[in-house]
Amino acid sequence: MRLPVDIDGSRGEGGGQILRTSLALAILTGRKLRMKRIRAGRKRPGLQRQHLACVRAAAELCGATVSEVDVGSQDLVFAPGTEWPQELRIDIGTAGSTTLVIQTILLPALRAPHPVRAVITGGTHNPLCPPFDFLDRVFLPHLRAMGADVTLTLEKIGVMPDGGGRVVMETKPSTLKPTAIVEAGRVIARRATAIVASLPRHIAERELACAQERLDQPRCEVIELPEAGPHNLFMCEVELESGARELCTSHGRKGYPAEDVADDALDELEDYLEAGVPVGEYLADQLLLPMAVAGGGRFRTLPGLSLHATTNIETIQAFLDLPIRFDGDTVVINDWA
Ligand code: ATP
Repeated sequence: MRLPVDIDGSRGEGGGQILRTSLALAILTGRKLRMKRIRAGRKRPGLQRQHLACVRAAAELCGATVSEVDVGSQDLVFAPGTEWPQELRIDIGTAGSTTLVIQTILLPALRAPHPVRAVITGGTHNPLCPPFDFLDRVFLPHLRAMGADVTLTLEKIGVMPDGGGRVVMETKPSTLKPTAIVEAGRVIARRATAIVASLPRHIAERELACAQERLDQPRCEVIELPEAGPHNLFMCEVELESGARELCTSHGRKGYPAEDVADDALDELEDYLEAGVPVGEYLADQLLLPMAVAGGGRFRTLPGLSLHATTNIETIQAFLDLPIRFDGDTVVINDWA
């Protein structure tokens, strides 16, 4: 009988990622999760709608037994099951992030005994979360290189405040293998996208003009969503010759000029390029779990790991007995050379 795992959700960064990593690892290891003090230090502590959707999705994915939880709950007991449906429908019910639900269920879904199709409704391009494009074009190529058979389809964009977006995740049973992501190289493609939802088109055009000034001939796209919002976001991305990618995002806010919105993301992208590493700050915390599940790996990233990353390492090590160290600019999982 495998021992349950006790997690204090207020440790380190103290946010929702501790919950999502714990849910994924509970399923992958078959161990019962007992979690306390979930997001205890946050302004609105405990599970919020978006986190409840992650719990529900994880439970449905494997037929888990879950203690009674609601908005605000800080305690959770999650006992993974063995009943894997082939189809899941998860409606977050708010603009809560569909991509964070995917962050919870994607790796466990690869271990299902059959293909899994999940339709998730909610926000697809939320502040403080990976936008769909990041998961699809920055994270997934690495996961596929590790052996994952997965596709994500953006059927409808969902932005604040109403959400209503739809993403489909399709997986086939796959085993992950260790990999190294250490090469960067020169930029071979650039792209910029500006989304305006019930806001004037000129906002997007001004953002893209900044991208044209600062990037070398980026592929530019304006996406207008007249029935959503009001909201604006700007994304800029690069692909390097090693296959590594980065996508930086910024969200508009009232009274903040479109040029400044664009420059925020473009500055972040410039910092990444100057560092000459393949893995940016957000990807670093997101690669830890798949590499740990694969049994090893290494990647080169920006100097100094984020609190999200160090907290994620602690959470992973509560379930898996494997060393994870940060050597200069390289994260090494399970001493993988
Ligand atoms: P809380 O509300 O408790 O702070 P949360 O559930 O909203 O938590 P976090 O724990 O903060 O989520 O985790 C956010 C996740 O989103 C992390 O994996 C982080 O890497 C990712 N993320 C945040 N912003 C971006 C971005 N701009 N691009 C890519 N990924 C991002």
